[in-house]
Amino acid sequence: MPIATVNPATGETLKTYDALGEEEIERRLATADAAFRSHRTTTFAERALRMNRAADLLDEDQQHIARVMTTEMGKPIKQARAEAAKCAKAMRWYADHAEQLLADEEPAERDVKDSGASWALVRYRPLGPVLAVMPWNFPMWQVVRFAAPALMAGNVGLLKHASNVPQTALYLEDLFRRAGFAEGCFQTLLIGSGAVERVLRDPRIKAATLTGSEPAGRSVASVAGDEIKKTVLELGGSDPFIVMPSAELDRAAGVAVTARVQNNGQSCIAAKRFIVHTDVFDAFAERFTAGMRALRVGDPMEEETDVGPLSTEQGRADLEDLVVDAVGAGADVLCGGERPARPGWFYPPTVLAGITPRMRIHREEAFGPVATLYRVADLDEAVAVANDSPFGLSSNVWTHNGVELDRFVQDLEAGGVYVNGMTASHPAFPFGGVKRSGHGRELSEHGIREFCNITTVWHG
Ligand code: NAP
Repeated sequence: MPIATVNPATGETLKTYDALGEEEIERRLATADAAFRSHRTTTFAERALRMNRAADLLDEDQQHIARVMTTEMGKPIKQARAEAAKCAKAMRWYADHAEQLLADEEPAERDVKDSGASWALVRYRPLGPVLAVMPWNFPMWQVVRFAAPALMAGNVGLLKHASNVPQTALYLEDLFRRAGFAEGCFQTLLIGSGAVERVLRDPRIKAATLTGSEPAGRSVASVAGDEIKKTVLELGGSDPFIVMPSAELDRAAGVAVTARVQNNGQSCIAAKRFIVHTDVFDAFAERFTAGMRALRVGDPMEEETDVGPLSTEQGRADLEDLVVDAVGAGADVLCGGERPARPGWFYPPTVLAGITPRMRIHREEAFGPVATLYRVADLDEAVAVANDSPFGLSSNVWTHNGVELDRFVQDLEAGGVYVNGMTASHPAFPFGGVKRSGHGRELSEHGIREFCNITTVWHG
């Protein structure tokens, strides 16, 4: 894939970039290595000052960087501004909390004695330069949710961003530099995915985090495994959205629309499979389909636009293939399903019912505004259908019945169970999945500790 800004609303190539050559990659690795040696010795207070400054600069730049993101990947402009604001909030959260989250821990006195020590403690030390391979869908948030905790922990970052968001990637490097982080603490590597292995095998890189598709995750994790380097993988999702008879249907249907089409439907934690109890299926399907049909599709720079284009031409083709396959195998199209005749990579909000396990869309991730509806007879079937997926990122359940709730929390194979609301990340809560959705956690204390050397200090 060329490294370029291509406006998905028009298909026009606006700016292209040359990939870094070997010499420049080497220079940046050396700079990261040197930066780590000094950054690791800075205090939490010094890092927090810079992180808060980055948040302030980002707030000042919000309108500008939102337009860059929308130009590069097509998300509606109001969602781009919200993404920038969310990043500033996460930066401040880690600036405020990192010292406490990484404070020395003292084991119980009884255990210290039992080990024969006079004293002992656990210290969270930084690991070193971490490679971050990131996707275009939340081109700023995915990076910041890695970078804010990593820099606060004393690590340094090298970003290999998706090839279609180079301007956002360069902005991030510049932002951390302007905020006062030393040269090399956070660098963007404009490289294609083919150069990732070479960087990852470099002994100066200590770990890697990847947010993206399953094939990319497998490839990076294989190389990292071969090098015995830690990885955090945030991969795809096909989250269930379960509606039981006690749900408030109007609210559930309204939230379902947002949960499916946020970010033009290209979110790993978007609800994708709507699993509805037969007693309320027809009423829910009617409200949900009406909501999807009413969405305004159009120019993502317009304030009123709800759904913009898909980010890449290939992404739209892949989504369309899933719909064609499902319809060919007997799925009912309740709305959408036809690509509009206009420039840009638009696809309409689409609802499919009558999904069967032999349709590809039952097992694969629909990365765009296409929802699948399932009718289930009872709680057991709801859980079984929800878990019948290779993915296990998050889940949404709508019920006011305590027995059902306990069952969902106990049995849903996912890294999150969001009750009577939609999945949304927050700096204080761990984020990540199970099964093919990856491993490790981001955000909260769990995220910041992923790239720490958890060190036992034992004193005889
Ligand atoms: P992608 O094609 O996997 O790309 C993600 C990143 O990986 C890009 O920087 C890409 O570089 C790089 N990459 C691709 N193949 C690689 C390989 N073989 N080796 C090393 N690097 C490689 O994914 P995407 O299409 O950008 O993003 C969509 C996917 O990300 C969806 O599956 C979505 O669910 C997932 N996602 C997950 C989360 C989460 O938190 N779990 C969040 C957001 C998105 P190039 O651009 O140069 O190819």
